[in-house]
Amino acid sequence: MKIPHFAIIGAGTAGLATAILLAREGNQVTIFEQVDELSPVGAGLLLQPAGLAVFEHLGVLEHALQLGAKVTGLEGQLPNKRLLVNSHYQQAAPKLYGLGIHRATLCHVLTQKLAEYSNQVTWRMNHSIERIEERQNEVRLFGSSRQHNIDDCFDAVLIANGARSQLRPKQWVKVDQAYPWGAAWSIVPECLTLNPEILHQFYDRSKIMMGVLPTGAIPSAPQQRLSSVFWSLPTPQLQSFLKDEQAKQQWLQQVSDRWPDVAEWLKQIVYDEQIQPQWLSAQYRDVVMSQYGQGRIGVIGDAAHAMSPQLGQGANMALLDAWAFSQSVQRTKKNQQIDWAMLWQHYHQHRHSSTQFYQFLSRLLTPLYQSNHWWASGLRDLTFPWMYQIPYFRKEMAMTISGLKTGLFQQMSYQQIAAYQQNENILLQNNQSLPEYD
Ligand SMILES: Cc1cc2nc3c(=O)[nH]c(=O)nc-3n(C[C@H](O)[C@H](O)[C@H](O)COP(=O)(O)OP(=O)(O)OC[C@H]3O[C@@H](n4cnc5c(N)ncnc54)[C@H](O)[C@@H]3O)c2cc1C
Repeated sequence: MKIPHFAIIGAGTAGLATAILLAREGNQVTIFEQVDELSPVGAGLLLQPAGLAVFEHLGVLEHALQLGAKVTGLEGQLPNKRLLVNSHYQQAAPKLYGLGIHRATLCHVLTQKLAEYSNQVTWRMNHSIERIEERQNEVRLFGSSRQHNIDDCFDAVLIANGARSQLRPKQWVKVDQAYPWGAAWSIVPECLTLNPEILHQFYDRSKIMMGVLPTGAIPSAPQQRLSSVFWSLPTPQLQSFLKDEQAKQQWLQQVSDRWPDVAEWLKQIVYDEQIQPQWLSAQYRDVVMSQYGQGRIGVIGDAAHAMSPQLGQGANMALLDAWAFSQSVQRTKKNQQIDWAMLWQHYHQHRHSSTQFYQFLSRLLTPLYQSNHWWASGLRDLTFPWMYQIPYFRKEMAMTISGLKTGLFQQMSYQQIAAYQQNENILLQNNQSLPEYD
């Protein structure tokens, strides 16, 4: 029997995590990545408990904890110092926490793990895939590399090439549009003015929003702890952010009028000769699909469900996709043959409601923080404190941030996602059904 051979397009969080799990289960994997070398640029990100459950399942949690920064919760402050958001993971369950992590570290941890399966994994760097064709018993990929044209056949393909994917089947795409707001961001030495175990956000109406995220360290400098700073802006203003001395002073004044302690810290950083922070811009997309796979083609990660990072769920969702896909392969593979229709039925069962829930919430909440609607922040500032008074909502908000929700009244269990690694063989041998999570 021929071992199934999967092509994965894109070596981001979704692609790497899926490659590890497929290789670990004995499949062959070829990864196509358009860049020459993986050197992920980007602000730090917050892995929520749902993503960390997948990390545990992948066997990379301990490694990630050595370099990342444990985060116990999220606090969002108004200019009058009142906490508008005050969610702590322990409000959802006693042992939950998040992990602030640099993108380079996330990539390092996943590629190190993948190296353990080098016999089953083929890397195709500097290979850009431009077209996919599904045939009766295979999929064919076309594209280009520096030296040659690509024309390769596989048993199945996973499209994991990020928010701007041109490869996702058009007929499955319901929404694909850019957000009018983005963020300028920079990575700087760790902020000790603020509690380094908390993601701090600062809001004034829906026009000003700033974040300071503990980001841990990068593998090449494990002693230097870092923070990421975000400043939200309408996209046309991103390129000119802090472009000259006057702009710097105006920005620091804007922060100082509202949050003087933070402004003092930022001032030291902005004018420190040795640090000289680089400000880059991030733009967001909103992608909604009616389905994520059919036959021998699947779409995972941002390519399937890009959204604004307001809820901090993108990388978590990419990791959950990887986990759900590998679970679905295990459930539907017999004698190296996969029942593709069953596989996608399983996959959608795992991922549809959760993805829909977070996409809905993201589209509902993002304008409350980033928009020109005069009523948005008023509504937010009235309702949020009221909700925090009620224990049920407090817990639900913490659970939502944890990334474990699959609907208004359902959620996944951290332990079930994390523990499959040890239990799945025993469960399969005993022919028991794997526990459902909602
Ligand atoms: C400012 C900002 C802050 C964020 N904060 C958080 C956060 O706190 N928590 C969180 O969970 N998420 C956060 N996110 C979202 C998170 O970064 C993404 O959801 C996640 O990285 C998506 O991973 P991915 O693997 O789907 O795609 P990507 O990481 O975009 O990877 C796609 C890969 O595909 C490759 N590729 C593209 N086209 C081709 C092609 N044709 N052929 C071959 N290769 C190709 C690319 O080079 C890239 O390596 C944030 C995003 C932004 C912008």
